[in-house]
Amino acid sequence: MKKILKDINVKGKKVLVRVDYNVPLDSNLEITNDKRIVATIPTIQYLLKENAAIILIAHLGRPKGKVVSEMSLKPISLRLSELLRLPVKFVSGDCISPESKKAAATLKSGEILLLENLRFHPEEEGKNASGEKDKVAMDAFAKELASMGEVFVQDAFGTVHRSHASTAGIVKYVKDAAAGFLVEKELKFLGESLEKPVKTFLSILGGAKVSDKINVIENLLNKVDVIIIGGAMAYTFLKSQGVNTGTSLVENDKLDLANELLKEAKEKKVEFLLPIDHIIINKVDFVNKQIPKDSEVKTTIDEVIPEGFMGVDVGPKSIEKFSKVVKSAKTIVWNGPLGIFEIDEFSKGTVEIAKLVAEATENGAISVVGGGDSVAAVKKAGVDKRISHISTGGGASLEFLEGKELPGIAALPDKK
Ligand code: AMP
Repeated sequence: MKKILKDINVKGKKVLVRVDYNVPLDSNLEITNDKRIVATIPTIQYLLKENAAIILIAHLGRPKGKVVSEMSLKPISLRLSELLRLPVKFVSGDCISPESKKAAATLKSGEILLLENLRFHPEEEGKNASGEKDKVAMDAFAKELASMGEVFVQDAFGTVHRSHASTAGIVKYVKDAAAGFLVEKELKFLGESLEKPVKTFLSILGGAKVSDKINVIENLLNKVDVIIIGGAMAYTFLKSQGVNTGTSLVENDKLDLANELLKEAKEKKVEFLLPIDHIIINKVDFVNKQIPKDSEVKTTIDEVIPEGFMGVDVGPKSIEKFSKVVKSAKTIVWNGPLGIFEIDEFSKGTVEIAKLVAEATENGAISVVGGGDSVAAVKKAGVDKRISHISTGGGASLEFLEGKELPGIAALPDKK
């Protein structure tokens, strides 16, 4: 177990907090969604109550080690100040400049300082000024950041799967460190559902590619009782069993692997459910996510997809079959939509299953949904408030499900 915020002494201390302020901005640099900023408020308020001096560190976008003025965190400091109704100090230019260091050094208890975009420095992502991998440069940068505070709080779950200066590097240079409230919640739900699942443990996996989720499937085969596969991934599995999949999105180079995974599931007595019918179309506009006017949409009678058609959602019989499993599950981990849910006509499978997951949750199941598109899907179904936990880090939650060690978590000290 890693140390959490309440395990460490922050009273009156200078606390560095890694936050996730990677928010969307429009062309006028207005924040279009401030959810990530709002989400950091509980950790900040706790630190204020403890009379800490708070130094927030974060990144925005991909400036690739250069100063890009459109990716300045200045607009975020203004919004945070509005939300907290407190001043938030901000130093333009460079997060470890003499001005930034002076602002940190003179910061008093109960004050808040946001430093400029960490990724203006290539060292944040483990590179030197020439863009080469350079661990020594990363460590030196981490040490400079650490020197501005006394203790460190990791609250940016979206970046903990990266081995960066502000995730893995900084911890060894501070007196103490812990997971903030947001990271604590992620570890609790993702960790407990995988380590101590109440049975029946169901995993629902969807999305575009098997290749993105091979490691997740392999890891989950050792933990779950049932796996439901939907989305385009399902067609690679069906084709590997000799089923005709028409023009569906299939990864032909992953057919052997899909076959192996199905065999492994059988050996491990994991029930592996694939769709038994589909919604199909003869052409789709993937770029604009639209149904062309002259296209034909049909529902198949079984798992076979006729030539010239592609599967775009699971069919009604599949929903019926899957719903029985969802209703009886006590732990549910979901990643990836079951169809092209961005098109309303092909969102039924995803939306219906999302509603069933919400119902199961109300009947006592623990449900964890992760990954950008899955989160958008449960929101589309209008059930996001009825899920036990929605993971905020797409990449990080996927790596957690793969059973990988997350460098930003591994670096944090263990509870005594
Ligand atoms: P992922 O990021 O791997 O979770 O994939 C999400 C994407 O998979 C979404 O944009 C969906 O539109 C897409 N997707 C789901 N089902 C299908 C399908 N049957 N055919 C093509 N794309 C799909």
